[in-house]
Amino acid sequence: MTGHFSLLDLFYPRRCVFCGHVLDKNVLEGVCPDCAASLPRTGGGWRTKGEFFDYCVSPFYYEGLAAEAVKALKFRGRSGAGRRLGKLLAPCVRDRAGDWDLICYVPLSRRRERERGYCQTRLLAEAAAKELGRPCVPALKKTRHTPPNSGLRGLAARRANVSGAFTVVKREAVSGRNVLLIDDVITTGATLGECARVLRMAGANRVVCATLCKVKKK
Ligand SMILES: [Zn+2]
Repeated sequence: MTGHFSLLDLFYPRRCVFCGHVLDKNVLEGVCPDCAASLPRTGGGWRTKGEFFDYCVSPFYYEGLAAEAVKALKFRGRSGAGRRLGKLLAPCVRDRAGDWDLICYVPLSRRRERERGYCQTRLLAEAAAKELGRPCVPALKKTRHTPPNSGLRGLAARRANVSGAFTVVKREAVSGRNVLLIDDVITTGATLGECARVLRMAGANRVVCATLCKVKKK
């Protein structure tokens, strides 16, 4: 048996996070060549401006394979994809998010997390943090349940929906620090903006955001 073949590979062959095909051991980042070629990368459109945060970086548009992967993670119980998608987010953060001290993530309400069985943004954030060698701090808490913003049109309605829904539970961790805030998808930036607002209120010096996907503006 060769040195780079682990026993785990026998039982759990590495599969492409997007299509499930078994991967050659040498394939990087857990993506098969076919999927890698057709991923909806943001290219020059990676940056989104926001309120209360400087900008948001995103490696993929919320389309095609990337949208399918996020939906599987959120709605079809594919929690295992969270860690692997978080690893895919890390290079974009490393190259584009500038300087920051710690990672936080947009939390789910207790009710939503109970329904889903896990918090997908925490999985993304923890995997990205591990990859980037920085701490992931559960500094935010969602204090009331809100209908999904995806059902609402326009920034004003989305902003009203999430207004006052988050609170900082670890002020000492974020005070005076530069925070990288992670979510799965950015659309109008209303949710990230509200989380960034309460982080700033709690003394965070600066907030930058990263999401796996961004919704392309029509
Ligand atoms: Zn694939």
